[in-house]
Amino acid sequence: MSRALILMYHAIDTPRSATEARYCVTPAAFREQMAYLSYAGLNPIPLSQLVDSLKSEKVTPQNSVAVTFDDGFECFQRNALPVLTEFRIPATLFAVAGKLGHTNSWMQAKGWPERRLMDAGDLRAVQADGVTIGCHALSHTPLTTTSDSDLMKETLDARHILSEAIGTDVTLFAYPNGAQGERERRAVANAGFVAACSTESGFNGHHADLFALRRIDVYGSDTLSNFRRKLQFGANRVTRVDLTRYYLNRIATRFHG
Ligand SMILES: [Zn+2]
Repeated sequence: MSRALILMYHAIDTPRSATEARYCVTPAAFREQMAYLSYAGLNPIPLSQLVDSLKSEKVTPQNSVAVTFDDGFECFQRNALPVLTEFRIPATLFAVAGKLGHTNSWMQAKGWPERRLMDAGDLRAVQADGVTIGCHALSHTPLTTTSDSDLMKETLDARHILSEAIGTDVTLFAYPNGAQGERERRAVANAGFVAACSTESGFNGHHADLFALRRIDVYGSDTLSNFRRKLQFGANRVTRVDLTRYYLNRIATRFHG
């Protein structure tokens, strides 16, 4: 495998306020992005397959992309799942184990609108439709701020609670707010997870840390051409300088290579 990408989404819906617009991709933009993935020679694969390939150094299709969703908003069922099904794109959804059927209280505290999170029945239903359920800790507290005993609850207890709720062993994790270091990565591994996603941008190659996988953050404001550039460069933001450097390199390679 050369360079695999993991995309990170949150809500797929019409933003309810300017504050959440960045983390809320409209259904129309999402559909356009998924259509692009399936028609542009990219290979959407399940995150678990991408992890297996990184572990075994097996060759996976060029341009592999895994699609992930953080937090488990209920709008996923209404606005994302039908599109994923239509384009046959596998997805992993990271649910907050201690907040199933509740709301995004950690975001409301920052002035964001209330959004309902899927309950255990909803998660079982989307799982039956082929979506992989991963764990987004117990309470969405950034793990780097927890005591050692709370860190166990946020990882080990969260895995047990979520596995029990959906009737399947949960093996993939995503750090709340992407907050992680050596202690957190070790706790997640000790809790029995096989891999964990960070929010650092970039491609994942053979030397990727399985407990700090890189993801591309898709913003609500991304146009399709922004989205295409983010995939091409493996970056959350592609500046004019990046683009200029890229085209200059291409010209230089044509002359010298
Ligand atoms: Zn989150």
